[in-house]
Amino acid sequence: MSTTQHTAWHETGVGALADSLRRREVGAVELAQHFLARARQQQALGAFLAIDEEATLAQARAQDAALAAGTAGPLAGVPLAHKDVFVTRDFPTTAASQMLAGYRSPFDATIVANLAQAGCVSLGKLSCDEFAMGGDNESAAVAAVGLDSPQPVRNPWDATRVPGGSSGGSAAAVAAGLAPAATASDTGGSIRQPASLCGITGIKPTYGRASRYGMIAYASSLDQAGVMARSAADCALLLSHLCGPDLERDSTSLDLPTEDFTRGLDGSIEGLRIGIPREFFADGLAPDVRAAVQAALKEYEKLGAALVDISLPRTDLAVPVYYILSPAEASSNLSRFDGVRYGHRAAQYSDLLDMYKKSRSEAFGEEVKRRIMIGTYVLSEGYYDAYYLQAQRLRRMIADDLQQAFTRCDVIAGPVSPTVAWPIGAKTDPLSAYLADIYTLPASLAGLPAMSVPAGFGDAGMPVGLQLIGNHFAEARLLNLAHRLQQATDFHQRRPAAA
Ligand code: GLN
Repeated sequence: MSTTQHTAWHETGVGALADSLRRREVGAVELAQHFLARARQQQALGAFLAIDEEATLAQARAQDAALAAGTAGPLAGVPLAHKDVFVTRDFPTTAASQMLAGYRSPFDATIVANLAQAGCVSLGKLSCDEFAMGGDNESAAVAAVGLDSPQPVRNPWDATRVPGGSSGGSAAAVAAGLAPAATASDTGGSIRQPASLCGITGIKPTYGRASRYGMIAYASSLDQAGVMARSAADCALLLSHLCGPDLERDSTSLDLPTEDFTRGLDGSIEGLRIGIPREFFADGLAPDVRAAVQAALKEYEKLGAALVDISLPRTDLAVPVYYILSPAEASSNLSRFDGVRYGHRAAQYSDLLDMYKKSRSEAFGEEVKRRIMIGTYVLSEGYYDAYYLQAQRLRRMIADDLQQAFTRCDVIAGPVSPTVAWPIGAKTDPLSAYLADIYTLPASLAGLPAMSVPAGFGDAGMPVGLQLIGNHFAEARLLNLAHRLQQATDFHQRRPAAA
C-alpha cells in the first residue's frame, strides 16, 4: 500500500496532490486506496454515510488512464468527498434522513459533475444534520458506515464534542485527514461554523455562484454550495472548478464566467480596510474565542491592513429573521416528500391522506418536523403579514446594513461561532442552538460570500475560526486575506492528535 512509500498523502494539500499525480509520483488508485483505508480506520467518527470502494476505484482508474493518455483535467485523481445533500449517481444520497434512506439519484448535482469534470475522484458521501437543518450534526438519522445506528458525528479534536453542523461530516473528514477536501452547503452557516469548530478552512461563495441543481433544497433563497479544505489555497483551487453558470438548470444561477480564484492569493493587503462590527464582540462571545479572533486581527494589522470600527445594528434580528424565513422555505421544499414519487412510504395506510401523514410522520426527524410546522404557521393566512412578510422586510434591512458597512471597509471580520465546539448532547433546547448562529446569519441573509479561517485555539485546546465576509463577488479577496494569514500563522497546519 501507499502508506509504506509515502506516509503523508493525507498531510498533502489539494494543489500538491494534483502536482504529484501529474508527475506520476502517485496514482489516482493508490491515493484513493490510501484515503479509503484511513476512512475505514476512523469509522468511529461517523463522518461517512456511504462508501463504495468499487465506485471510487472505477473513478480513480479512469483518471489514471486520462493521466497516462495526456487527456487529464487539472485536478485529475484528486480525491474528495461530498456532503450527502448533493445527489450522486455513483453513491446513495440521503440528506441524512430516513425519508431518503437507500435513495439513488439518476444524475449528478452540477457541482459534483463540475468537480468530476476537473478530474476529482469521489471517496463517498459525508454525514450532516438531517436535511442540513442544524448546527451540531447530532440529527443525522442514517447510520454512518461501520456503525449500527445513527450517531452524532464526532469532532476529531475531541471525540466527546460536536464537529458543528450541518456539514459536520465534511469538516470532521477533512480535519481527520480522511479526505483532503470536501464539498459542503451553507444556508445559515453550515460551511463556516463546522470549519471553525474543526480547525479547517471553508468558504461559501456569493449566492448564485455555485449551482443549486441537484442540491437537496432546504431554504432555496439561502442555500449555497462551497468547499472545505485545510488551506485557503486549496479552497481557491477547488472553488474555481466548483462554481460556474448553470442557467438552464438553476434559475438563480449567476451569468458570470468561471473565475480562477487562485490568481490573487499572494496579493498585498497593505492599506486594506477590515471592518470590525462591534455587535459581533458584544456579550455572548466567549472570552477564549474573542482572544483568538483578536490575535488574528492583530496579524492583519502587522500585514498592513487597517482595522475599522463598524456597526451592523440589526445583528440581533438575524436569528429571528432566519428562523422564520428558512422554515417557511423548508416547509414548501419538503412538501415534495409525500410518499408518492420518491422517499419513504408507510407500509400501511387507509387512504391517500393517511398515507401522506404516516409516511411523513414516520420518516422525518424531530427538528425537521419542528421546522415544517413553524414554516407552515408563519406562511398561514392571518400570520403571513405578521411574521413572513415582516421577516422579508427585515432581511432587506440587514442586507442594506451590510452594504452601508462596505462604504467604510473592504472586508468584514469577526468570530464565526460564539464558543468553541461543545460536548455532544449539551444543547438540548433548539433555541440555544439557534442563537449560536448569530454571526454567520447576516452574510447568509444578504447572499454574501463568507469564509472561516483557522485563527488559533481556545478552551480545552479546541480550534477557533475567524470569519471573513466580503461584498458580492469578492471571493478572491477573501481567499487572498485568508491565504496571507496562513502564510503568517500555522494554525491551519496543526492536526488533532488522533489524526
Ligand atoms: N445552523 C443553521 C440551521 O440550523 C444553519 C444550517 C445550514 O446552513 N444548513 O439552519
